Amino acid sequence: DADVAAAPESNWNEKIKVFTVATEPTDGYTRYFRSARVYDIEVTTLGLGEEWKGGDMQRPGGGFKLNLLREAIAPYKNDPETIILFTDSYDVIITTTLDEIFEKFKEAGAKILFSAEKFCWPDKSLANDYPEVEGKASRFLNSGAFMGYAPQVFALLEDPIEDTADDQLYFTKIFLDEAKRTKLGLKLDVKSRLFQNLHGAKNDVKLKVDLESNQGVLQNVDFMTTPAIIHGNGLSKVDLNAYSNYLARTFSGVCLLCQENLLDLEETNLPVISVALMVTQAVPFFDQFLKGIESLNYPKEKLHLLIYSNVAFHDDDIKSFVNKYAKEYATAKFALSTDELDERQGRQLALDKARLHQSDYIFFVDADAHIDDSEVLRELLRLNKQFVAPIFSKHNELWSNFWGALSEGGYYARSHDYVDIVKRELIGMFNVPHVTSIYLVKNTAFDAISYKHKEFDPDMAMCESLRNAGIFMYASNLRIFGHLVNADDFNTTVTRPDFYTLFSNEIDWTEKYIHPNYSLQLNESNKLQQPCPDVYWFQIVSDAFCDDLVAIMEAHNGWSDGSNSDNRLEGGYEAVPTRDIHMKQVGLERLYLKFLQLFVRPLQERAFTGYFHNPPRALMNFMVRYRPDEQPSLRPHHDSSTYTINIAMNRAGIDYQGGGCRFIRYNCSVTETKKGWMLMHPGRLTHYHEGLLVTNGTRYIMISFIDP
Ligand code: UDP
Repeated sequence: DADVAAAPESNWNEKIKVFTVATEPTDGYTRYFRSARVYDIEVTTLGLGEEWKGGDMQRPGGGFKLNLLREAIAPYKNDPETIILFTDSYDVIITTTLDEIFEKFKEAGAKILFSAEKFCWPDKSLANDYPEVEGKASRFLNSGAFMGYAPQVFALLEDPIEDTADDQLYFTKIFLDEAKRTKLGLKLDVKSRLFQNLHGAKNDVKLKVDLESNQGVLQNVDFMTTPAIIHGNGLSKVDLNAYSNYLARTFSGVCLLCQENLLDLEETNLPVISVALMVTQAVPFFDQFLKGIESLNYPKEKLHLLIYSNVAFHDDDIKSFVNKYAKEYATAKFALSTDELDERQGRQLALDKARLHQSDYIFFVDADAHIDDSEVLRELLRLNKQFVAPIFSKHNELWSNFWGALSEGGYYARSHDYVDIVKRELIGMFNVPHVTSIYLVKNTAFDAISYKHKEFDPDMAMCESLRNAGIFMYASNLRIFGHLVNADDFNTTVTRPDFYTLFSNEIDWTEKYIHPNYSLQLNESNKLQQPCPDVYWFQIVSDAFCDDLVAIMEAHNGWSDGSNSDNRLEGGYEAVPTRDIHMKQVGLERLYLKFLQLFVRPLQERAFTGYFHNPPRALMNFMVRYRPDEQPSLRPHHDSSTYTINIAMNRAGIDYQGGGCRFIRYNCSVTETKKGWMLMHPGRLTHYHEGLLVTNGTRYIMISFIDP
């Protein structure tokens, strides 16, 4: 082909006509079309809007594609300079320019070059009729992509074929007919120079991602080729989805894909969204969860709220939330544990309601998914996908709401990029095979969702149904939209169970239970309050801390009798007895020591500089109750501690009258104690002190003798 080689390549570019078939503009088609656009390749799409007549692709079929193509290329059938490139579209991406594609085609020296794969399909019995190939080369024809000169391609399509007959079988038979093969100049791209079929080729290819740009190249490592056109044939669609996150310039340092095709939100015409809150397990910090929902920046009259619960523990909170806010929403409903719907039915109900309300989207949020960014809904809408999730993970853990890959059986598998994505060392939007906990689904995808499955849980069933329907699940970590709380081992049999979760949910616990001004006091430039000499006063815990801890103690109700004999102590004797309950008695000793270490110690180091004891030790952590008719005061005493902390659990002058602490040596009293505030003072020698008389109501204080 001397004249072919001599022709200027730019002309050849114009001579290459690219065709594909897509009866519907699926996510796969959109991805294919985008990849072509990225490399300035003009594509003619055949069949758009037509009814697919090619049969079910799980079984043989596809003659329809061939019939569309025959008609489309008829005008070129006598033009030996025109080259036809045909590919499928739902599971194909282009990864380079037409120049390179043409180079690779030329190198093959074929009139028509077909992509090749490792399996002989749909008629296995034909396998031995194929010419042998060396080593790891792919022996069998795949009809998902081919390239050839127009007259030959037209001749190839000459024989009639039923729309529902199998196109791959059709081409296979021609290829296996040696006379026809020679006449048409048919070759297979057995070393994946131009085309790569992915089914059965997992170990043949490797994705190389540039660390700077995050741009990837898919290499065939058997032949060290970089195939230009990648086809996720058969079962390899999940693999193609994973590779495609990095192919065709989805990144250029930053995520380019995330900036394309965005939805412009018109304030006057915002989409109607069904918000489905799913409570399928007892979760800590349910109050914060509901706050996150309330905080969403979106007009509530555009939202239909449905809360589903199969957990009796949360029913009351759900009822009061809905009753309180129902008026603001377009509609607000709940289905509680008493309705006895299982999770599948609950999710199905939410979807059915969304259809009924003619919602444009449904936004599923599970009760362990805490929204921290009130823009999350708008940000997801902007991404303009049929299915998109914000990536949520547990604080400081790799546990998240998406899977990067699937195992053979369809369960979790770790992908190469999983950790980077969870840690946000890689930021973007990723096509993933499994998403849970929080996601936005467009109504065009509603009908694809099925929760029915014999062995999969409802999440897995949903994801499988979406994968089968070719609806891409995108997951975005463009912002820190929120996080997952840890519901493992959450014990709802205790009073105020959230209080017990410091170890499993440190950050949520801190948010709920530590005073909002706490950290200000760690700032060296802020002067500390000293109501009496060497008595420091700190804002340390929230009202919720005080209320929950008092409730825990009152529910336990094992207040000591105030006598000197105390069998909780090693010697059995207490010189300065109070009416109290020790943290040990309510199973909170270890937690309270952690609290001392995390929150009290840093304040101590500011107040009494140069004293470092980490972790602080304390054998006595207890709540004291003062009442006029019980024990109303405490006689002067020293504490057996290096320093003592005393946190007011309720409000002076409101919950009780009188009370306070008097430091005798300085003749100085603190009587206006404040709920959630802590006094800290040396325990021995200097700070001889007494508890002042409570004249009315009940006063609670939380005491620790630190480093006794
Ligand atoms: N196709 C189509 N509409 C359909 C099904 C398939 O246009 O309803 C086209 C589309 O180009 C798709 C190709 O036929 O890529 C082959 O289908 P699929 O990718 O599902 O088959 P596989 O590659 O798995 O055999």
